[in-house]
Amino acid sequence: MKRIFLKRGKEESLKRFHPWIFSGAIQHMNEEPEEGEVVEVFTSENEYIATGHFQIGSIMIRVLSFNREAIDQSFYERRLAIAFDVRRSIGVIDGENNTYRLVHGEGDNLSGLVIDVYGNTAVMQAHSVGMHRERAVIAKALKNVMGEELKNIFYKSETTLPFKAELGQENGFLLGGETDDVAIENGLRFHVDWLKGQKTGFFVDQRDNRKLLERYAKGRKVLNMFCYTGGFSFYAMRGGAELVHSVDSSQKAIDLSRANVELNFPNDARHEAYAEDAFRFMEKMETPYDLIILDPPAFAKHKDALRNALKGYTRLNRKAFEKIQPGGILFTFSCSQAVNKDQFRAAVFTAAAQSGRNVRILHQLHQPADHPINIYHPEGEYLKGLVLYVE
Ligand code: SAH
Repeated sequence: MKRIFLKRGKEESLKRFHPWIFSGAIQHMNEEPEEGEVVEVFTSENEYIATGHFQIGSIMIRVLSFNREAIDQSFYERRLAIAFDVRRSIGVIDGENNTYRLVHGEGDNLSGLVIDVYGNTAVMQAHSVGMHRERAVIAKALKNVMGEELKNIFYKSETTLPFKAELGQENGFLLGGETDDVAIENGLRFHVDWLKGQKTGFFVDQRDNRKLLERYAKGRKVLNMFCYTGGFSFYAMRGGAELVHSVDSSQKAIDLSRANVELNFPNDARHEAYAEDAFRFMEKMETPYDLIILDPPAFAKHKDALRNALKGYTRLNRKAFEKIQPGGILFTFSCSQAVNKDQFRAAVFTAAAQSGRNVRILHQLHQPADHPINIYHPEGEYLKGLVLYVE
């Protein structure tokens, strides 16, 4: 196996089990590895410290193991078996729910890999060249771990891999191919478009927060802003909302929301969906909404975009504070990893202050247990939200 040697002192973060090695930490390599190759990492004292996937870029090595072990099918089976056991412990796999994240990258000690499960189909995404190269091995390991429960594996990495690597990324089935595209979350059904949908087809990470919203929906007029597949909308309807309006700038998202609401509540006149820009919609809206959900896309994809992102959150939330009815409930989220929960809260604080409304924090929300955070990798925390009562 090719060897990478670190500069003096650069092993410190690895001693604390942080799984990333940046290019600046590397002293030399005994031989240049190919992108995605498994390499062993040594300290400047020539001591073994980690094994990981090599990649060209700022993060040069994604650590897979701090023990000297082979990275083969059996390695992936061991890691996947633990991940599967964690999900069984959380209680997300039963008749009422067959949608969950099975592998959350570093959170499951598999940096660069994401797997979401929808019924008997797993959708796998590689975020590193190493995981891309290993996709067939991982697919076999996954089938061995999940057994009969798994009929299809769809591989989808067109948009998640570094395009410079020129790997000829493609989407397609690694197992099976005949799928029922309807999955179940907390007893509600929805279509998953793994082929063309964003991420793996559905935003699995809002499951618990949608369930909480259901409790607040009774008799309310609901605006689900940035609705995508309409997840929050059909929970609001089950919770007894008086009306539910779903808004997204993408026509495809609007079609999906309509189809999903129809699947659960056929011919229900309480729901309407609008393909429109969020700011434009909120500027001119006249419906007296008293439950608003704001779940925008990541405003800051990188640290450099932070300032503008925070301004964006403030502007958006301010609009909601200005328009929401007295006694209204606001569910507001940020999924930008670069924005931490204090920064997000400060942005919402500023918005509240600008609107002059009395605002109470009722709940502080985060990503669910099937999106675990590796304690040694705090960067894995990304989703945060607030539920607010607006007097
Ligand atoms: N709440 C959703 C996930 C939202 S993802 C869920 O529970 O699944 C963010 C969505 O915001 C995407 O569907 C995207 O199309 C939409 N979007 C992005 N920019 C927008 C804008 N300016 N106005 C309205 N929608 C926008």
